[in-house]
Amino acid sequence: MNKKEKLEKLNKKIKECKRCSLWQAANNAVPGEGSIYSKIMFIGEAPGRQEDLTGRPFIGRAGELLNRLLNTAKIKREDVFITSVIKHRPPKNRQPQKPEIKACKTWWQKQIEILKPKLIILLGRVASDTVLGKDFWKERGRLYQKEGERYFIVYHPAAGLRFPKIKKILEKDFKRLKNFKFS
Ligand code: URA
Repeated sequence: MNKKEKLEKLNKKIKECKRCSLWQAANNAVPGEGSIYSKIMFIGEAPGRQEDLTGRPFIGRAGELLNRLLNTAKIKREDVFITSVIKHRPPKNRQPQKPEIKACKTWWQKQIEILKPKLIILLGRVASDTVLGKDFWKERGRLYQKEGERYFIVYHPAAGLRFPKIKKILEKDFKRLKNFKFS
């Protein structure tokens, strides 16, 4: 099976997932989208309302800010892969619970395995805690190397929408991506 087929097979499994109860209130699963040749993979927290209605990641207001941040880094959205640690929307956008995060872990792990990105950008505390087990508040802005993968921990764009200071920090962090060497 090639990369595209592997990813399609995985997406189908994610759409049928009942490993926790979040699927019950959701309209659509949001497996993620982007280039299968992507060197960069973004991992956020969980789908919101717009994402749930369409099955596409980061298309609401946080997604609009993510698009603008990608522009500042001179990165095309269609050249990266975007997903979240949780694939079904938590009701009323509540925080995902530990058992839900645990149940969903297998999906982003398999996405990393298939796509083999050179850099994984963790958007916010939930993604950095879940994927790296790192204290977000200490490690934000750091480039990390773990088991052959490189990670970059940044604020979640939703926090940038609420706090202008955080938006400035996000812009600074994304600008650093312009100098990133994908060797
Ligand atoms: N926030 C996320 O973390 N993921 C999405 O897909 C949308 C908003």
